[in-house]
Amino acid sequence: MTAANDSSPQTPAAPAAGTGFDTLPLAPAVRANLTQLGYERMTPIQAASLPLTLAGKDVIAQAKTGSGKTAAFGLPLLTNLNPRRFAVQALVLCPTRELAEQVTQELRRLARAEDNVKILTLCGGATMRPQIASLAHGAHVVVGTPGRIIDHLERETLALDALNTLVLDEADRMLDMGFADDIATIAQRCPRQRQTLLFSATYPEGVAALAGKYMHEPQDVKLTERHAAGTIRQRFYEVTESERLHAVGLLLNHYRPVSTLAFCNTKQQCRDLVAVLQAQGIAALELHGDLDQRDRDQVLVQFANRSCSVLVATDVAARGLDIAQLEAVINVDITPDIEVHTHRIGRTGRAGEAGWAFSLASLDEMGRVGRIEAMQGRESEWHALSELVPTSSEPLHPPMATLQILGGRKEKIRAGDVLGALTKDLGLPGAQIGKINVNEFSTYVAVERGIADAALRGLNAGKVKGKSVKVRQL
Ligand code: AMP
Repeated sequence: MTAANDSSPQTPAAPAAGTGFDTLPLAPAVRANLTQLGYERMTPIQAASLPLTLAGKDVIAQAKTGSGKTAAFGLPLLTNLNPRRFAVQALVLCPTRELAEQVTQELRRLARAEDNVKILTLCGGATMRPQIASLAHGAHVVVGTPGRIIDHLERETLALDALNTLVLDEADRMLDMGFADDIATIAQRCPRQRQTLLFSATYPEGVAALAGKYMHEPQDVKLTERHAAGTIRQRFYEVTESERLHAVGLLLNHYRPVSTLAFCNTKQQCRDLVAVLQAQGIAALELHGDLDQRDRDQVLVQFANRSCSVLVATDVAARGLDIAQLEAVINVDITPDIEVHTHRIGRTGRAGEAGWAFSLASLDEMGRVGRIEAMQGRESEWHALSELVPTSSEPLHPPMATLQILGGRKEKIRAGDVLGALTKDLGLPGAQIGKINVNEFSTYVAVERGIADAALRGLNAGKVKGKSVKVRQL
């Protein structure tokens, strides 16, 4: 089942998934084309979003590749189009070239109902000249990656004055790849009067910020099944004070979560725990109020890009943290504030994923656990430390490593430049490259650990944005 957020009273009721396209206000030719394509029934995301998007609303939709999301934004985009007007009327921003090409193909299939709708892909890595020639010939729809779209805007080979639909596809991934500034630049060049559609697999706070800035009264479309699937599994372990810090390592080696946030009540305990974990070879970093902004950024970048397994923090330091994928939260001790407990464990099990919440409690803390039970209205599930046997002979290593490039926005480095240097110049596969964060003076790029050495050597020997750079592994 699907549900559209019905905060707006005019919102038409969403047809159930599996309903035919004939319930939608589509031109007969479009409907016939869908039948020809074998699209008989709407997928859940289409059923939930199309009634809104075809009514001209801005929509934020939670959808993954494979869900039928391209048609979910493609059909309203094509409906908004006037093929007799030779100007770019729709722009789809994608994080990668592969996705842009896939989206273009699907849009072309959907556009077959109309004669002469020209759809153009503009991505980095391809030569500029043919793109400029195609633009000069006139395109109705442009699908591209942010960096290359900006190149064309700067050269004035692309104009967006006639745009009526802006689509941000895989918005979460675009933010991960450091495209926030580029999206801002592009949105500023689009007319204010337009329909904006945002598709994202996950809902980190960054995506909400993006929607707040560039969308007009957006309607949320989430699939309820994904929404409800996010579950937190809580387990309590009784510890003595001397076992407490050591128990964290036992939990990690048993459950092997990729990203864990460990909460301590005091700064001193944070410091002690990081020392204990590091001594066991676990990649742990501490987040506390004494860090200056640069160090804090560096810690958060490494945790968010999955090159640090455990972030150890106090509640104050962790405030406002925006991390989408967190497999586990560990309460190293029980907080006296029950609301804080709820808040702590609520950080895992997001975006439809299951998450673990482990709590270590000494006899002294049983009163606090009792209050938590009372509030949650159920008994706590207790387990013994002796169950925590290592489940792998391999040490727990994070999947990624972070390379720091000494140079950032000040040097006009963009995420696309770094991606290009790694994939095009060094021939490393794009799939093994993770988040890219461009800060003012530094750029951080996550790469799979197995290619970290090659990437480090290659970047140090090569060039980014035509210049030699200094790179180190954090
Ligand atoms: P997407 O999530 O946009 O990448 O779409 C995944 C695949 O599903 C593509 O091959 C589409 O052609 C196909 N598809 C999208 N919507 C439908 C539908 N309503 N019925 C059948 N196939 C569809």
